[in-house]
Amino acid sequence: MVAHSIKPALEVVGLSKAYREGDRGHTILKGAGMALYPGEFVALLGPSGSGKSTLLNLVSGIDVPDTGEVRVAGTSLTGMTERDRTLFRRRHIGFVFQFFNLLPTLTVEENLLLPLELRGRIGPADREKARILLQRVGLSGRERSFPDRLSGGEQQRVAVARALVHDPLLILADEPTGNLDSETGAAVLDLLEELAGSAAKTLLVVTHSNDVAGRAHRVLRIRDGALVETPVPRPTGAPTSDPSLQEAAGSGPWPGATGPG
Ligand code: ADP
Ligand code: MG
Repeated sequence: MVAHSIKPALEVVGLSKAYREGDRGHTILKGAGMALYPGEFVALLGPSGSGKSTLLNLVSGIDVPDTGEVRVAGTSLTGMTERDRTLFRRRHIGFVFQFFNLLPTLTVEENLLLPLELRGRIGPADREKARILLQRVGLSGRERSFPDRLSGGEQQRVAVARALVHDPLLILADEPTGNLDSETGAAVLDLLEELAGSAAKTLLVVTHSNDVAGRAHRVLRIRDGALVETPVPRPTGAPTSDPSLQEAAGSGPWPGATGPG
């Protein structure tokens, strides 16, 4: 756990979101709150349809909440225009998706440089940064390859590098290992953890995998539209790996912006 005096990298306070279905509202999030600190790796769990992707969209400013607030490194996204949220996101947030989301008509290097290109002209220092990152994810020499020439695991390694190339303070990953076999998924997670951890980034990973959750510093679950902090699952075979025991040990709703403890 990170010391309380450190300011949160991400604060979510009283976040609510409903979608309209015909003339009825379908409430997804009801007063969800959390505070994540620099250097933390947090897993976000919840059944399919519980609002995990919705939450990531609100955190990144892709979508706006009905009520509540999102603050990234102290800056509130509430009240920003869509354009300002987009610029803020490009500068401060990195994404990894389940289906990699590389652009098929761009090479590996072009995909990797895209977050920098969206911010302005690419210089030699940027290319050098991309080269080093590609090396760190084990894909040196594949700069000119197109995504369809790469395996799923390789594509996701490019996506991990792309999520970090612009040096964001917050990295959001939506089921990043969900489309990979367990060994490849573990390797991708190794990279994400290593790259994010070495630079004290905050990493929020949506996952269904107990293996992924077991490696996180903290585990949050969406329950009835709220965020609840629960124990980090132990590796399979450990005495407390029984999910019912973990449920029983689960704490109450996470107290919004007040931080851990
Ligand atoms: P999860 O990622 O946890 O599987 P989502 O956040 O994608 O869940 O979706 C939560 C619920 O909100 C689902 O019932 C989904 O159908 C609904 N939903 C998501 N996006 C929209 C949208 N743009 N319009 C209407 N309903 C949506
Ligand atoms: Mg989802």
